[in-house]
Amino acid sequence: MNTASGAPHPASQPPASPSPPAPAPGLPPLAAWALMLDALADAAWIVDGRSLQVGAANAAAAALLGVAGPELAGMAATSLIATPEDLAFWDEVRQGSARQLDSETVLVNASARLVRVHRRVRPLADGHFLVTLQDRTEQQRQQDEREHLLAGLQATLESTGDGILVTDLAGRITAFNRRFAQVWGLPEALLTQRNDDAVFDWMRRSVVDPEAYQRRLATIQEATLLQASERLVLLSGQVLERVTQPQSCRGRPTGRVWAFRDHTALETASKRIEALTTTDGLTGLFNRRQLGEALTDSIRQAERNHGTLALLILDLDRFKQINDSLGHDIGDRVLLDTADRLKSCLRQGDQVARVGGDQFALLVQRVDSRGAESAARRVLEAISRPCAVDGLQFTMTCSVGVALYPVDGDNADLLVRHAETAMQRAKQGGRAGFRFHQPHHDDDLRQRMRLDHAMRQSLASNRFRLKYQPQIDLRSGAVIGAEALIRWRDPELGEVSPGEFIPVAEDSGFIVAIGDWVLTQAVRQAARWRHEGLVMPVSVNVSALQFQQADFIDRVAAVLREAELPGSLLELELTETILVQDADEALQRLSQLSQLGVRLAIDDFGTGYSSLAYLKRFPIERLKIDRSFIQGVPQDDSDAGIVRAIIQMSTALGMKVIAEGVETEPQRAFLLEAGCDQFQGFLYAPALDALSFDERVRGRPRGGKSSHLSLVGR
Ligand code: C2E
Ligand code: MG
Ligand code: MG
Repeated sequence: MNTASGAPHPASQPPASPSPPAPAPGLPPLAAWALMLDALADAAWIVDGRSLQVGAANAAAAALLGVAGPELAGMAATSLIATPEDLAFWDEVRQGSARQLDSETVLVNASARLVRVHRRVRPLADGHFLVTLQDRTEQQRQQDEREHLLAGLQATLESTGDGILVTDLAGRITAFNRRFAQVWGLPEALLTQRNDDAVFDWMRRSVVDPEAYQRRLATIQEATLLQASERLVLLSGQVLERVTQPQSCRGRPTGRVWAFRDHTALETASKRIEALTTTDGLTGLFNRRQLGEALTDSIRQAERNHGTLALLILDLDRFKQINDSLGHDIGDRVLLDTADRLKSCLRQGDQVARVGGDQFALLVQRVDSRGAESAARRVLEAISRPCAVDGLQFTMTCSVGVALYPVDGDNADLLVRHAETAMQRAKQGGRAGFRFHQPHHDDDLRQRMRLDHAMRQSLASNRFRLKYQPQIDLRSGAVIGAEALIRWRDPELGEVSPGEFIPVAEDSGFIVAIGDWVLTQAVRQAARWRHEGLVMPVSVNVSALQFQQADFIDRVAAVLREAELPGSLLELELTETILVQDADEALQRLSQLSQLGVRLAIDDFGTGYSSLAYLKRFPIERLKIDRSFIQGVPQDDSDAGIVRAIIQMSTALGMKVIAEGVETEPQRAFLLEAGCDQFQGFLYAPALDALSFDERVRGRPRGGKSSHLSLVGR
C-alpha cells in the first residue's frame, strides 16, 4: 500500500459511491473539490459538516436548483433540499453521528419546479460532505411511458377473445391474460400462486391425449423460431386452436407467445352444418346422400365377408293428400311418426333414411330374400297401425320396393334404382304392399313408352271402345244409370285393361285426349239412347289432369250442346284428389259444372283422406263407395263399419250413395239393409257394349222390383 504521499485518505468509502480523487497537493481543499465538481455531469456541491453551508457547487447544481451559481456558496444545505429526511440527516451531521444518505426524493427548486432526483450525500475526508443529485425526471418520464404502454398492452391482452400466455426461453410464464385461465378452466389459485409447473400440469391433464400434447410441446420449445398452429381437444369436449409464435427483442429470441382460441362453438356449428347436409332436417334421419354413403360402406363390407344385404324403399300412400287437405303441420307430424315407427323396425346395424318427401329407405344388413321379406312385412305392419294426430284418427299405408345385394346390383346407385322401381310397381299393384326387384321390370320405362305410343295410334285409328256398366237402384232394382268404362284391344298388345294403360296416359298427359274422346262418345251414346226412348244418365270418369285443363268446362258444355243432351243426363266421376289439390279452384269449377246441370260424384270414396264434412263444401250429389270396402262385407267387421258410416253420414248430408263392385247376394243384402241407395257390380252385370246394355235394360219392365234382378256372366 502506498502511503508515501502522506495525503489524507477518506476514512471509509462506501463501495458504490463516486470516490472523489484526493485533493491535489498545494491547492486549498475546497478549491480542489470545486474543480472536481465541475468535471461531474450530475449536480453536485460540497457542504461544510460544521456550518452546514454550501462551500462549492457546479453549474449543473445551479441549473437544477434554479439558483445562480455564485449565490449557492454560503447557502444553508437545508435550504436547498428541505425534505424531512434531509433535515433529519443534517441535524445528525451536526451532532456528529450521520455518515451518508442515499435515496430517491423530490425537491422543489427555486423556480418552484418539482424535480425528481436521486440524491446521495457522502462524507469527505476533511469534514465536508459531497451532495450529488441525479435528475430522474427523464427516467421517470420513460418509466411512466413504459407503464402506460404496459397498461395498454395488458388492456389489449385482456380485450382479446383468445387466451394468451407468454413464456420466456426457459419456458417460465412471464405473462398471461384472464381469458387464458377461462379457456383452460384454470383454478384461480394456480395463477395467483404463480406456480408454473402446476399450471402446465393442469393443461396437460386437460387434454384428451396428454402424451401427444407433451411430445408436441417439447418439439415446439426446442425449435425456438418455430411458428405453429394446431387443434387441441380437451376432455371437457372443448376444442382449442393453439397458435404459438416466437417472441424476440432486438432480433434475439426471448420467449414465446401462445394464443388459445376456443373453437368449440365453431366446431359445433360446422358439425351442425355437416349434419344438415347429411341428415334430414325434419326427422334427423340420414338423408339420401348419407344413405348412399352408408350403402356403399355396407356393400364394401358385404363384399369382403361374402355377405348379403337388402335395401327397402318405401313411399307413403296418398301422403300428398294429407299434406294438402290437413296442412303441412300435420303432414310433418305424420312424417315424424313414420320415422319413429321405422326406427322400431330396425335391428342393430340397420339404417333408416328419409330420401324424399314421403319416401324412406331401410338398409337391412345380413339378410337374404326371406329376411328382406320379413323386414318389409314388419314395415308394412308398423306403418299401418292406426295413428292419431291432433285428435284426427287415420290409417296410413305404404308401398315398399326391395332390392338385394348382390343379386339385384353390386353398387349403391343400382340398388337404389331397383328398389325404387320395385316400389313403383307396389304402388301400381294397388299400394299397401311390397315388391321385390324383378330384372325384367327394369324395362318398365320402355314398356310404358311403348304403351303410350300404341295408345296414341289407337286413338287416331279409333280402336278404343266404351262399355257401360249398369247402375241399379237397390230398393227398386231399376237400372238408373250407366258408367262408361273404356276398353282397348290393341292389334299387337291384345286386350289392355284400363288399370294398366290409364296410369300411363295420366303420366304422359295423353289422358286429356283420351278423356275428351270418352266424354264425347258417352254423351253421344246417352243422346242416342234418349233419342231412342231410353233416358239413361251416363257416368264418365274424369282424371285430375283432364279436370284441371283450362277449357274443361267449355268442353263439357260444347259436347252437351253438340249432342243436344241435357246436363242432368251426364254425371262426372271425380276422385278425392281433385278436390284436395286446390280446393278453391275445384269449388269454382264444380259450381260451373253444376250450373250446366251436370251431376257430380266422388269415385272410389274412402281411399282418400277427405272427410264427408269436407266434401259438403262441394256440390256433390253422389258418393261411390270403393270396391275394396265392399269386398269385405258383410263378414269383415271393420269394412262393414266403414260402409255403414259412409252411408249414414252421406244420407245425413243429403248425398246419394252407390256401392261399387258388388259381386254377391250377401253384399247386396247387407247394403240394402244398411240403407245404401244404389249399386253396380258383376252381381248385376259387368260393363256391356251399348247394344247389350240397351237389350239388357229394355228386356225387362222399367222400374221393376228387385226380384227382376238377374245375374249375367262376367
Ligand atoms: P272405376 O271408375 O272405379 O271403375 C270401376 C271398375 O270396377 C271397372 O274396372 C269395372 O269393370 C270394375 N268392376 C265393376 N264391377 C265389378 C265387380 O263386381 N267386381 C270387380 N272385381 N270389378 C268390378 P275397369 O273398367 O277395369 O276400370 C278400372 C279403372 O280405370 C276405373 O275404376 C277408372 O278409374 C279407370 N277408368 C276406366 N275407364 C276410364 C275412363 O274412361 N276415363 C278415366 N279417366 N278412367 C277410366
Ligand atoms: Mg268410376
Ligand atoms: Mg271406382
